[in-house]
Amino acid sequence: MSVVTRITPIASALQEGCAEVPVLRERGQREVFCGLTGIIWLHRKIQDAFFLVVGSRTCAHLIQSAAGVMIFAEPRFATAIIDERDLAGLADCNAELDRVVTRLLERRPDIRLLFLVGSCPSEVIKLDLSRAAQRLSKSFAPAVRVLNYSGSGIETTFTQGEDACLAALVPEMPAAPGSAAPDLLVVGALADVVEDQMRRLFDAMGIGRVGFFPPRHAADLAAVGPNTRFLLAQPFLADTARALEARGAVRLDAPFPLGVEGTSGWLAAAAHAFGIDAQRFEAAIAPARERAQRALARHRPGLAGKRIFFFPDSQLEIPLARFLAREMGMQLVEVGTPYLHKQHLAAELALLPAQCQISEGQHVEKQLDRCRAAQPDLVVCGLGLANPLEAEGLTTKWAIELVFTPIQGFDQAADLAELFERPLVRRLRLVA
Ligand code: SF4
Repeated sequence: MSVVTRITPIASALQEGCAEVPVLRERGQREVFCGLTGIIWLHRKIQDAFFLVVGSRTCAHLIQSAAGVMIFAEPRFATAIIDERDLAGLADCNAELDRVVTRLLERRPDIRLLFLVGSCPSEVIKLDLSRAAQRLSKSFAPAVRVLNYSGSGIETTFTQGEDACLAALVPEMPAAPGSAAPDLLVVGALADVVEDQMRRLFDAMGIGRVGFFPPRHAADLAAVGPNTRFLLAQPFLADTARALEARGAVRLDAPFPLGVEGTSGWLAAAAHAFGIDAQRFEAAIAPARERAQRALARHRPGLAGKRIFFFPDSQLEIPLARFLAREMGMQLVEVGTPYLHKQHLAAELALLPAQCQISEGQHVEKQLDRCRAAQPDLVVCGLGLANPLEAEGLTTKWAIELVFTPIQGFDQAADLAELFERPLVRRLRLVA
C-alpha cells in the first residue's frame, strides 16, 4: 500500500524572495524586435499553418533576417507587400489581399490554417484583417481556416506575437464535454523534442490526458472547458491565458520549466492538481532530474559568482534569472523585463533572491548608463545593443537565441546553462 501524500507546489511552499521588492518602472525608447518575429518558431511548430504578413518591405526584411538566425527555416511564411498605391488609398487592398490568398492556396494545397498577420503598415491604413479573415474563411472552408492577429511593433515586444497568435486560436478549440474527467493542457510553443519528453514524464506520473497548445497540426486542437487545467510553458502568454480562462479553463500556478528546480516545480503543480501521490511523482521524475543535476554541475564553476545584467527583451528574463541565481550561483545585477505579469510570475518572484533589482519597461539610455556603471560579467540583450556593448568590452548574450533554442525541461537544463557560459568562455579566449 502506498502512502498518499499530496505534493506541495513550490509556489505555495515559498514565501520569501523578490515578490514584494519595489520594481523600477521605466518608459522611453525601447530596443526590441516586433511581434512578427514569433512567426519564425511558430511556423515550425504548427506544421500545416502558413503565416502571411500583410506589411511592408521592412516587415519582409525583418522576417528574413530573423529567419537567418535559424538553420532550418522553411518556406511557410511570406509577406504580402502593401505598396505606395495601397498606402495612398489608390488600390482596393481587400481585393488584392483576396487575390494573393487565392493564389497562395491554389499553389499550396497542404495549408490547413492560414494566419493573416497584421503589421504597423496594415494598422496605419486601418486594413481590417479580422473581416478579411472571416471573408476568406467562408470562401475556403472547410479545407482551410483563416485567422488573423497582429504582429505590429508599435506597442509590443517580440514574444507577444506568439501570445497574439495563440489567443486568436483559442476560439477555434472545440468545447470539452462538461462531464469529462479533467484534462491537462500545456500552453506555449515547445520544441517537439521537449514536448515528447514532457509527455513521457506526465505519462509516468499517471496523467495521461495531456494536450499541447499550439498543436503540431491544425486539426489536432485540444478541447477546452471548465475541466481543463492548464500549465503555461512560457511566461509571455497573458492574452492566451485570459482567453482560456474565459472558456472556463483553470491556470495552475507554477514556476516555468527552466532548470531543474523550475521543471520540478512545474511538474509538481500538475501532480498536485491531479492528485498524484508523492511516491509516484518522485519515481517518475527522479531519473531525469538527477541526470540533469549531474549535467548542470559541469557548468557551475564557469558561472558561479559571475554578475549578470538583463535588458528587457524576451519576457523570459525573470525565470532565467531565477535559474541562474539559484542553480548556477550567478549574481543578479538587474533583471529587466518588458512586462511584469505578477500573477503568472508569482512563483518565480518568490524564488528570486531578496533585494533583487527588477525593472519593467525600458528607457534604454538610462539602462545603458546603469549597465556601464555596473560593468557586469555578462549582459543579456537584443541584437541591436549587443554589438555596441561588445565593442565597449562587455560580454553579451543575444536574448532572442533563448527563444529559438529548446531550453525547457530536465534534459535541456545543461544546454541552457551552456548558452550563458559560452560567451564568457569566448571572452576569456579573446583576452588570453
Ligand atoms: S511590423 Fe512594424 S516594427 Fe515590425 S517589421 Fe513591420 S514595420 Fe517594422
